[in-house]
Amino acid sequence: MPSSSQRGVVLVADDDPVMRMLMLEMLAQVGLDAIEAADGAQAVQLARERRPDLILMDVEMPHMDGFAACRAIRRDEAGGALVPIVMVTGGDDIEAVTSAYEAGATDFVSKPINWPILGHRVLYVLRASDAIARLRIADAQNRAVLAAIPDTFFRMNRDGFYLDYEPGHERPHRERSVRAADHEQAPFSSDRCIGRHISDVLPRPIAARMLEQLGEVLRTQEIRSVEYELIRFGAAQHFEARLVATSPSEVLGLVRDISERKRTEEQIRRLAYCDSLTGIPNRQAFLENLERELQRSKIGNKKFAVLFMDLDAFKRINDTLGHNVGDHLLKIVSERLRDTIRPSDLLSRGEAVSGDIAPDTAAEDSASNLARLGGDEFTILIPDLERVEHALNVAHRVKEAMRRPFLIDGNEIFVTASIGISLFPEDGDDCNSLLKYADTAMYHAKNCGKNNAKLYSSSLTMQIMSHVKLEVGLRKALQNDELYLLYQPQLDVRSQEVVGVEALVRWRHPERGIISPTEFIPLAEETGLIVPIGEWVLRTACNQARAWQRHGRRALRMAVNLSAKQFKDENLSQIVLSALIDTGLDPKLLELELTEGTLMDDALATLATLEQLRRIGVYLSIDDFGTGYSSMNYLKRFDVRALKIDRSFINGLPQDSENAAITRAIIAMAHGLKMAVVAEGVETDEQLVLLEEYGCDMVQGYFLGHPSTADTITQMLGKLRLVLPSG
Ligand code: C2E
Ligand code: MG
Ligand code: MG
Repeated sequence: MPSSSQRGVVLVADDDPVMRMLMLEMLAQVGLDAIEAADGAQAVQLARERRPDLILMDVEMPHMDGFAACRAIRRDEAGGALVPIVMVTGGDDIEAVTSAYEAGATDFVSKPINWPILGHRVLYVLRASDAIARLRIADAQNRAVLAAIPDTFFRMNRDGFYLDYEPGHERPHRERSVRAADHEQAPFSSDRCIGRHISDVLPRPIAARMLEQLGEVLRTQEIRSVEYELIRFGAAQHFEARLVATSPSEVLGLVRDISERKRTEEQIRRLAYCDSLTGIPNRQAFLENLERELQRSKIGNKKFAVLFMDLDAFKRINDTLGHNVGDHLLKIVSERLRDTIRPSDLLSRGEAVSGDIAPDTAAEDSASNLARLGGDEFTILIPDLERVEHALNVAHRVKEAMRRPFLIDGNEIFVTASIGISLFPEDGDDCNSLLKYADTAMYHAKNCGKNNAKLYSSSLTMQIMSHVKLEVGLRKALQNDELYLLYQPQLDVRSQEVVGVEALVRWRHPERGIISPTEFIPLAEETGLIVPIGEWVLRTACNQARAWQRHGRRALRMAVNLSAKQFKDENLSQIVLSALIDTGLDPKLLELELTEGTLMDDALATLATLEQLRRIGVYLSIDDFGTGYSSMNYLKRFDVRALKIDRSFINGLPQDSENAAITRAIIAMAHGLKMAVVAEGVETDEQLVLLEEYGCDMVQGYFLGHPSTADTITQMLGKLRLVLPSG
């Protein structure tokens, strides 16, 4: 169709000049130009030379009739093939109409001509032929596009029947040589598909998914895609079919082979889940495997174990032999681990591999149960655990495997491993906890001297948890008034009088009840809380001593334990002094018990502190004497007034002759240095008799009195002498 700016040109071929004139007139009325031909031959010539947009041609003409001219024009490939030709036939000449179409006419007008509508008729034919021309171009383009892409395409109706099928270019397949499996899918062809139902062409489950999506596409008019896998040439091939609605009842499907993409994805997946150094699964892979195992075990009511292995002193190997050797070692370690957890070993049932697991799959599974988390940390998952011992067995095998020397670059390298084990469901029921606990247990194994395997028991966490809880509680204990003192009497052996008491602190815990100082004093020292607690003990004890003095009882010496931390506190002498001043206690009546360790720690600073304390005038004694290391001569320099023999020496008396000898020697030496001796932990009559015989100055222990409240001591003070044996 000529564009609007351009008038269309019609070739009018008729031997009758009157007819031609009338036709020209009618065409001009609708805005069309015309050229004239007086016979068929001339029409053919003009059609070729002038390329009219339409030809209006009479059937009966001299030289060459309309049919022949029409055929001749159609034969002209340069353009005549497509130009619309309207034949003018005799009124009721049906034969002529048929011949006209056979000759290639587009349409016909019969005589007598209805002149008023002729122009419009011509316009209509022009427009229709223009639309056909455009359609032809679009169709050619579509075919070109479809030929250019490798995809297969098909048209399908809403019921799932193929209306059209155009196979894509088949890619050459590497797997072609692989034997074809029975269930493999033959390549599709148009013949195999057109007119058939999709479920006769594709495996039923795939066909069902495709039909479901087809319905969705027609309903929503949106593009949907379906991925599926077919076995072809003996290998799995992956496809993606994209479905587009082309009408309310038809879809166009484009099927693409995405096998290559799938392979790349798999490769990426491997990279993401594989430790690049050793080739075994990495942390991510392990965590996902663990999660799967967890779900499986929860459902199946099964147990499993997580082993966490860390090489002892790997850092040293790296530092001394270099990272290359370190890397090499890790590779061999992972190989040995893989061998150690071979399926027959790992299946912790102890029996042989059960028949229903193909050896290959089992090997693959077991390989994925091993992982390198990073550095020299490896983990092993032991599924289907029946007894804890099996996990310990595997740990033992791993340990043994590590102990064999590693030969790297001519060096024999010896390593050991520490292993921690956590159990599902005993220790936890989520992956993070189980891994963390295995790690904790591994640290515990290291602390227990390396080359060790330890089970994580909940008690280990309980220990840590309660430690933390205790610390929180201890911080509040002072202000909540939860601490209190007990006093244990010290008896002068010769006069058999109570000459002093030792203040021993207790903690009345709101939930746990009474807690021993052996549990919370180390914690107080660790956290520095010992300083305020120690000061409170000192003041309370001084207060009590002063109270006993005031109430007309005997002047008792009050012994207070000082921990090393307190001793190092530069304010110590100030604290002691103000406690004495505030309570009005005579410094001579305050005894400070130090341990040998405290004194030997930092001799110079110690000397200065001791000098300050000496000047204040307090009485110094060495607690738990004999358990630490110190020389008598050294002690002399510190102006120590008394030694308290540790109760471990007194314990076995009188039978234990060795301890008896030590006790006697300590007493003799102390006396040589003008120091008094207190025996601790005296529990029996015989012990007391023996100590008296050795010349021990004072005794303390359950035989004479348990640590007791101030009130009890007050009552006891008068009576104590009476209960003592007279010897
Ligand atoms: P320690 O200073 O050697 O105190 C003597 C410990 O021996 C006390 O334990 C006492 O109850 C126990 N004991 C006394 N007689 C006997 C006996 O005949 N047999 C046996 N088996 N044990 C006896 P306790 O009260 O549990 O105190 C333990 C340790 O806690 C004390 O050992 C001391 O080192 C420390 N401690 C107690 N109170 C304080 C304090 O206020 N400050 C500091 N820094 N340490 C304290
Ligand atoms: Mg003591
Ligand atoms: Mg002691």
